[in-house]
Amino acid sequence: MFKKWSGFMIIAACFLVVAACGNSSSKGSSGSSDKKSGKLHVVTTFYPMYEFTKQIVKDKGDVDMLIPSSVEPHDWEPTPKDIASIQNADLFVYNSTYMETWVPSAEKSMGTDHAAFVKASKGIDLIEGSDEEEEGHGHDHSHSMDPHVWLSPVLAQKEVKNITAQIVKQDPKNKAYYEKNSEEYIAKLKDLDKLYRTTLNKAAKKELITQHAAFGYLAKEYGLKQVAIAGLSPEEEPSAAKLAELKTFAKKHDVKIIYFEEVASPKVANTLAGEIGAKTEVLNTLEGLSQKERDKGIGYIDIMEKNLDALKDSLLVK
Ligand SMILES: [Zn+2]
Repeated sequence: MFKKWSGFMIIAACFLVVAACGNSSSKGSSGSSDKKSGKLHVVTTFYPMYEFTKQIVKDKGDVDMLIPSSVEPHDWEPTPKDIASIQNADLFVYNSTYMETWVPSAEKSMGTDHAAFVKASKGIDLIEGSDEEEEGHGHDHSHSMDPHVWLSPVLAQKEVKNITAQIVKQDPKNKAYYEKNSEEYIAKLKDLDKLYRTTLNKAAKKELITQHAAFGYLAKEYGLKQVAIAGLSPEEEPSAAKLAELKTFAKKHDVKIIYFEEVASPKVANTLAGEIGAKTEVLNTLEGLSQKERDKGIGYIDIMEKNLDALKDSLLVK
């Protein structure tokens, strides 16, 4: 009886193994036939690239985000597994080689057979980092141009258009669907721009102190002046001279709020605020957005509206 029973178990176990193997191999082949069946697979780098792409593709394809939202994308480097997932996708969307500095070498390592690369900031005139940010970093040109274009509601539209054009090229049979989604999202970005413009037109002050120089395009668009504690990358530590200069600037312009970020450490922002008797408030760079927030349906536009509220607290005198 025992022998018969164990014999049955072995047969059952074998059956399960075969079933499991059959299942996983069919899953594998359906994965590789995605391209034939026409389901688009897009790999994106960090949050805004993911969000802009997802708004266009919606459920007509799979959109993945490579860089975890808890990681500061300025410092992130791909693993061999990440390189493989870029290679196997249909499209790979990144912002700029001044942000994702590893993209050219990753592309080179892939040979000729890989996903189509989409530089979302293509055609946008990048602004240079200011001289004070470059102090002591003269030899490092990797962050010499400002990559933070997605934080301007106007330039975000350009990025959405660039991504749309490549998606349509890759999957032309769904052209009308993608273009409709894209136009609807761009209309929302235009409303966001209008909201920023009308609100900041009333600003009594124009000066803002941020944790790192992420809001240069936003400042340029709406006539503000950004002074940053760190440079174009949040990891740059400010010198004592820089901090003294920031204190003088804050006093001169009566700056009451020092902005810090969600992803990078707020230590220096807190110190500076303490020394000048200012408050701190979050100004989100959107360089990462947690899964928890995304699960709640919070997106780029919601965060940008929150950022505008935060800006109002220091720029609009009540
Ligand atoms: Zn940044």
